[in-house]
Amino acid sequence: MIWNSSDFEVLTGTQEKVSTKHFNTSCYLCGNKECSNVFIENGIPIVKCKNCGHVFSTYKQDEHYQGYWGDDEKIYDIEWWDKAHKDLYKQFIQIFLTEKSGRILDVGCGLGFFLKLVRQIKPGWETIGYELSPPAVNFAKTKNGLDNIFNQPVEKSRIKNNSFDIITLWDVIEHIPVPQPKLKFLHSILKPGGILFLQTPNFPIQLKKAKLKKFFRGMNTDGHYLEAKDHINDYTQKTIVSLGNQCGFDKYQFFILKPILSLSGSRAQIGRYLKLLYYYVTKTLWLLSFKTVNLNNTLFVTFRK
Ligand SMILES: [Zn+2]
Repeated sequence: MIWNSSDFEVLTGTQEKVSTKHFNTSCYLCGNKECSNVFIENGIPIVKCKNCGHVFSTYKQDEHYQGYWGDDEKIYDIEWWDKAHKDLYKQFIQIFLTEKSGRILDVGCGLGFFLKLVRQIKPGWETIGYELSPPAVNFAKTKNGLDNIFNQPVEKSRIKNNSFDIITLWDVIEHIPVPQPKLKFLHSILKPGGILFLQTPNFPIQLKKAKLKKFFRGMNTDGHYLEAKDHINDYTQKTIVSLGNQCGFDKYQFFILKPILSLSGSRAQIGRYLKLLYYYVTKTLWLLSFKTVNLNNTLFVTFRK
Protein backbone atom coordinates (compact mmCIF):
# COMPACT_ATOMS: atom_id res chain seq x y z
CA MET A 1 0.00 0.00 0.00
CA ILE A 2 1.30 3.47 -0.85
CA TRP A 3 0.60 6.35 1.48
CA ASN A 4 0.41 10.00 0.57
CA SER A 5 -0.11 12.72 3.14
CA SER A 6 -3.73 13.08 2.00
CA ASP A 7 -4.51 9.37 2.28
CA PHE A 8 -4.64 8.92 6.03
CA GLU A 9 -8.35 8.38 6.47
CA VAL A 10 -8.77 4.68 6.89
CA LEU A 11 -6.18 2.37 8.35
CA THR A 12 -5.68 -1.30 7.93
CA GLY A 13 -4.36 -3.67 10.60
CA THR A 14 -6.37 -3.00 13.73
CA GLN A 15 -8.92 -1.07 11.64
CA GLU A 16 -8.65 1.64 14.23
CA LYS A 17 -9.41 5.03 12.74
CA VAL A 18 -7.08 7.75 13.93
CA SER A 19 -7.35 11.40 12.97
CA THR A 20 -4.98 12.44 10.17
CA LYS A 21 -3.68 15.35 12.20
CA HIS A 22 -1.74 12.93 14.41
CA PHE A 23 0.32 11.65 11.51
CA ASN A 24 3.39 12.82 9.68
CA THR A 25 4.20 11.35 6.29
CA SER A 26 7.13 13.56 5.28
CA CYS A 27 10.40 11.66 5.40
CA TYR A 28 12.65 12.96 8.20
CA LEU A 29 15.75 12.34 6.10
CA CYS A 30 14.84 13.67 2.65
CA GLY A 31 11.47 15.44 2.98
CA ASN A 32 9.77 13.23 0.37
CA LYS A 33 6.05 12.72 1.03
CA GLU A 34 5.44 9.43 -0.73
CA CYS A 35 5.92 6.31 1.36
CA SER A 36 4.80 2.70 1.56
CA ASN A 37 3.46 0.86 4.53
CA VAL A 38 5.85 -1.40 6.45
CA PHE A 39 4.02 -2.27 9.68
CA ILE A 40 1.01 -1.13 11.68
CA GLU A 41 1.29 -0.92 15.44
CA ASN A 42 -1.84 -0.13 17.44
CA GLY A 43 -3.29 1.83 14.52
CA ILE A 44 -0.07 3.76 13.83
CA PRO A 45 1.48 3.13 10.40
CA ILE A 46 5.26 2.75 10.22
CA VAL A 47 6.29 3.66 6.68
CA LYS A 48 9.22 3.58 4.29
CA CYS A 49 10.15 6.58 2.15
CA LYS A 50 9.82 5.80 -1.55
CA ASN A 51 12.72 8.11 -2.33
CA CYS A 52 15.54 7.35 0.16
CA GLY A 53 14.30 4.16 1.86
CA HIS A 54 14.24 5.63 5.36
CA VAL A 55 11.69 4.04 7.70
CA PHE A 56 9.80 6.13 10.25
CA SER A 57 6.74 6.08 12.45
CA THR A 58 3.99 8.41 11.28
CA TYR A 59 3.12 9.22 14.90
CA LYS A 60 3.75 12.90 15.64
CA GLN A 61 5.90 12.95 18.73
CA ASP A 62 7.00 16.07 20.59
CA GLU A 63 10.57 17.04 19.62
CA HIS A 64 11.63 17.31 23.26
CA TYR A 65 9.42 14.64 24.83
CA GLN A 66 10.65 14.03 28.37
CA GLY A 67 8.29 11.40 29.68
CA TYR A 68 10.52 8.37 29.17
CA TRP A 69 11.64 8.13 32.77
CA GLY A 70 8.32 8.77 34.49
CA ASP A 71 8.08 10.60 37.80
CA ASP A 72 8.61 7.81 40.22
CA GLU A 73 11.98 6.16 40.30
CA LYS A 74 10.45 3.15 42.04
CA ILE A 75 8.78 2.09 38.81
CA TYR A 76 12.09 0.81 37.53
CA ASP A 77 14.42 -1.52 39.32
CA ILE A 78 17.57 0.56 39.50
CA GLU A 79 19.88 -2.19 40.67
CA TRP A 80 18.77 -4.46 37.86
CA TRP A 81 19.01 -1.69 35.27
CA ASP A 82 22.58 -0.94 36.33
CA LYS A 83 23.56 -4.62 36.27
CA ALA A 84 21.98 -5.26 32.86
CA HIS A 85 23.98 -2.45 31.20
CA LYS A 86 27.32 -2.89 32.96
CA ASP A 87 29.05 -5.33 30.58
CA LEU A 88 28.13 -3.22 27.55
CA TYR A 89 29.32 0.01 29.16
CA LYS A 90 32.55 -1.62 30.35
CA GLN A 91 33.26 -2.93 26.86
CA PHE A 92 32.62 0.52 25.41
CA ILE A 93 35.00 2.19 27.88
CA GLN A 94 37.66 -0.43 27.15
CA ILE A 95 37.45 0.14 23.39
CA PHE A 96 36.96 3.89 23.15
CA LEU A 97 38.34 5.56 26.28
CA THR A 98 41.90 4.49 25.62
CA GLU A 99 43.51 7.73 26.82
CA LYS A 100 44.15 8.44 30.49
CA SER A 101 42.20 11.66 30.37
CA GLY A 102 39.71 13.42 28.12
CA ARG A 103 36.25 14.93 28.00
CA ILE A 104 33.12 12.88 27.36
CA LEU A 105 29.57 14.12 26.87
CA ASP A 106 26.57 11.78 27.22
CA VAL A 107 23.45 13.20 25.54
CA GLY A 108 20.23 11.79 27.00
CA CYS A 109 22.22 10.44 29.94
CA GLY A 110 19.11 9.21 31.78
CA LEU A 111 19.91 8.13 35.33
CA GLY A 112 23.65 8.59 34.77
CA PHE A 113 24.86 4.99 35.16
CA PHE A 114 27.11 5.17 32.11
CA LEU A 115 28.88 8.35 33.25
CA LYS A 116 29.17 6.97 36.77
CA LEU A 117 31.02 3.93 35.42
CA VAL A 118 33.30 6.15 33.30
CA ARG A 119 34.25 8.02 36.46
CA GLN A 120 34.97 4.80 38.32
CA ILE A 121 37.06 3.19 35.59
CA LYS A 122 38.64 6.33 34.09
CA PRO A 123 38.84 8.94 36.86
CA GLY A 124 40.99 11.17 34.64
CA TRP A 125 38.07 11.82 32.29
CA GLU A 126 35.75 14.76 32.72
CA THR A 127 32.10 13.68 32.38
CA ILE A 128 29.18 15.87 31.32
CA GLY A 129 25.56 14.78 30.79
CA TYR A 130 22.44 16.33 29.28
CA GLU A 131 19.01 14.91 30.04
CA LEU A 132 15.50 16.28 29.43
CA SER A 133 13.72 14.40 32.21
CA PRO A 134 13.85 16.31 35.54
CA PRO A 135 13.42 13.19 37.74
CA ALA A 136 16.23 11.40 35.87
CA VAL A 137 18.52 14.43 36.28
CA ASN A 138 17.70 14.50 39.96
CA PHE A 139 18.51 10.80 40.28
CA ALA A 140 21.82 11.16 38.40
CA LYS A 141 22.85 13.97 40.73
CA THR A 142 21.66 12.71 44.08
CA LYS A 143 21.86 8.92 43.81
CA ASN A 144 24.72 8.55 41.34
CA GLY A 145 26.65 11.52 42.67
CA LEU A 146 27.20 13.21 39.31
CA ASP A 147 27.57 16.97 39.23
CA ASN A 148 27.81 18.06 35.60
CA ILE A 149 24.29 17.03 34.58
CA PHE A 150 22.14 19.58 32.80
CA ASN A 151 18.39 19.59 32.26
CA GLN A 152 18.03 21.13 28.80
CA PRO A 153 18.47 20.23 25.12
CA VAL A 154 22.23 20.14 24.51
CA GLU A 155 21.94 22.27 21.37
CA LYS A 156 20.61 25.11 23.55
CA SER A 157 23.79 25.05 25.66
CA ARG A 158 26.72 27.38 25.16
CA ILE A 159 29.33 24.65 24.86
CA LYS A 160 32.25 25.94 22.81
CA ASN A 161 33.37 24.43 19.51
CA ASN A 162 35.90 21.56 19.62
CA SER A 163 35.24 20.73 23.31
CA PHE A 164 34.83 16.94 23.46
CA ASP A 165 36.83 13.80 22.64
CA ILE A 166 33.78 11.54 22.74
CA ILE A 167 30.02 12.17 22.58
CA THR A 168 27.61 9.29 23.22
CA LEU A 169 23.88 8.85 22.56
CA TRP A 170 22.62 5.57 24.05
CA ASP A 171 19.16 4.71 22.71
CA VAL A 172 18.42 8.35 22.03
CA ILE A 173 18.58 9.06 18.31
CA GLU A 174 15.53 6.95 17.39
CA HIS A 175 13.39 9.05 19.76
CA ILE A 176 14.14 12.39 18.08
CA PRO A 177 11.84 13.26 15.17
CA VAL A 178 14.21 15.80 13.57
CA PRO A 179 17.71 14.92 14.79
CA GLN A 180 19.74 16.99 12.31
CA PRO A 181 20.01 20.24 14.33
CA LYS A 182 21.24 18.30 17.37
CA LEU A 183 23.78 16.24 15.41
CA LYS A 184 25.08 19.31 13.58
CA PHE A 185 25.59 21.00 16.93
CA LEU A 186 27.33 17.88 18.29
CA HIS A 187 29.62 17.92 15.24
CA SER A 188 30.61 21.49 16.07
CA ILE A 189 31.48 20.73 19.71
CA LEU A 190 33.51 17.58 18.92
CA LYS A 191 37.26 18.02 18.73
CA PRO A 192 38.82 17.26 15.34
CA GLY A 193 39.37 13.50 15.37
CA GLY A 194 36.74 13.12 18.11
CA ILE A 195 34.11 10.39 18.09
CA LEU A 196 30.32 10.57 18.03
CA PHE A 197 28.84 7.21 19.13
CA LEU A 198 25.22 6.21 18.48
CA GLN A 199 23.39 3.13 19.72
CA THR A 200 19.99 2.46 18.17
CA PRO A 201 17.81 -0.56 17.25
CA ASN A 202 18.81 -2.29 14.00
CA PHE A 203 15.50 -1.88 12.19
CA PRO A 204 15.58 -4.77 9.67
CA ILE A 205 16.10 -7.25 12.53
CA GLN A 206 13.54 -5.53 14.79
CA LEU A 207 11.00 -5.68 11.97
CA LYS A 208 11.51 -9.41 11.52
CA LYS A 209 11.02 -9.91 15.26
CA ALA A 210 7.89 -7.72 15.25
CA LYS A 211 6.36 -9.63 12.33
CA LEU A 212 7.05 -12.96 14.02
CA LYS A 213 5.52 -11.70 17.25
CA LYS A 214 2.42 -10.49 15.42
CA PHE A 215 2.14 -13.76 13.53
CA PHE A 216 2.09 -15.78 16.74
CA ARG A 217 -0.20 -13.37 18.60
CA GLY A 218 -2.66 -12.89 15.74
CA MET A 219 -2.41 -10.26 13.04
CA ASN A 220 -4.73 -7.69 14.62
CA THR A 221 -3.31 -7.86 18.12
CA ASP A 222 -2.23 -4.62 19.75
CA GLY A 223 0.96 -4.54 21.77
CA HIS A 224 4.56 -3.40 21.85
CA TYR A 225 6.29 -4.28 18.62
CA LEU A 226 8.39 -1.41 17.30
CA GLU A 227 7.51 1.24 19.89
CA ALA A 228 5.73 3.35 17.26
CA LYS A 229 5.03 6.24 19.66
CA ASP A 230 8.59 6.36 21.02
CA HIS A 231 10.85 5.23 18.19
CA ILE A 232 10.00 7.82 15.56
CA ASN A 233 12.95 7.06 13.26
CA ASP A 234 13.85 3.44 12.52
CA TYR A 235 17.42 3.21 11.24
CA THR A 236 19.30 0.76 9.09
CA GLN A 237 23.05 0.84 8.53
CA LYS A 238 22.44 2.75 5.29
CA THR A 239 20.08 5.39 6.70
CA ILE A 240 22.07 6.09 9.88
CA VAL A 241 25.12 6.77 7.70
CA SER A 242 23.05 9.04 5.50
CA LEU A 243 21.90 10.95 8.61
CA GLY A 244 25.55 11.29 9.74
CA ASN A 245 26.52 12.57 6.28
CA GLN A 246 23.78 15.21 6.41
CA CYS A 247 25.21 16.50 9.68
CA GLY A 248 28.84 16.82 8.60
CA PHE A 249 30.18 13.35 9.45
CA ASP A 250 31.84 11.39 6.65
CA LYS A 251 33.94 8.76 8.46
CA TYR A 252 31.92 5.99 10.07
CA GLN A 253 32.44 2.52 11.53
CA PHE A 254 30.00 -0.13 12.78
CA PHE A 255 30.60 -2.41 15.76
CA ILE A 256 28.85 -5.28 17.46
CA LEU A 257 29.00 -4.79 21.20
CA LYS A 258 27.70 -6.85 24.11
CA PRO A 259 23.92 -6.94 24.70
CA ILE A 260 21.94 -5.23 27.42
CA LEU A 261 21.11 -8.21 29.59
CA SER A 262 17.39 -7.53 29.76
CA LEU A 263 15.93 -4.12 30.45
CA SER A 264 12.31 -4.78 31.24
CA GLY A 265 12.00 -8.39 30.21
CA SER A 266 12.60 -11.59 32.08
CA ARG A 267 15.32 -11.76 34.68
CA ALA A 268 15.75 -15.48 34.28
CA GLN A 269 19.32 -16.60 33.74
CA ILE A 270 18.24 -18.40 30.59
CA GLY A 271 17.30 -15.04 29.04
CA ARG A 272 20.77 -13.69 29.78
CA TYR A 273 22.42 -16.74 28.23
CA LEU A 274 20.25 -16.53 25.12
CA LYS A 275 21.12 -12.88 24.67
CA LEU A 276 24.83 -13.64 25.06
CA LEU A 277 24.55 -16.55 22.64
CA TYR A 278 22.85 -14.29 20.10
CA TYR A 279 25.64 -11.76 20.56
CA TYR A 280 28.39 -14.30 19.92
CA VAL A 281 26.58 -15.79 16.91
CA THR A 282 25.95 -12.39 15.28
CA LYS A 283 29.48 -11.23 16.06
CA THR A 284 30.96 -14.38 14.49
CA LEU A 285 28.84 -13.90 11.35
CA TRP A 286 29.86 -10.26 11.27
CA LEU A 287 33.55 -11.12 11.41
CA LEU A 288 33.29 -14.05 8.96
CA SER A 289 31.46 -11.83 6.45
CA PHE A 290 34.19 -9.14 6.72
CA LYS A 291 31.75 -6.87 8.55
CA THR A 292 29.09 -6.95 5.82
CA VAL A 293 26.35 -9.04 7.50
CA ASN A 294 24.94 -7.40 10.62
CA LEU A 295 22.17 -9.52 12.15
CA ASN A 296 22.52 -8.01 15.61
CA ASN A 297 19.36 -6.36 16.90
CA THR A 298 21.25 -3.20 17.84
CA LEU A 299 23.29 -0.83 15.70
CA PHE A 300 26.46 0.59 17.23
CA VAL A 301 28.07 3.20 15.01
CA THR A 302 30.82 5.75 15.44
CA PHE A 303 31.28 8.87 13.35
CA ARG A 304 34.64 10.55 13.41
CA LYS A 305 35.04 14.28 12.91
ZN1 LIG B 1 13.32 9.86 2.38
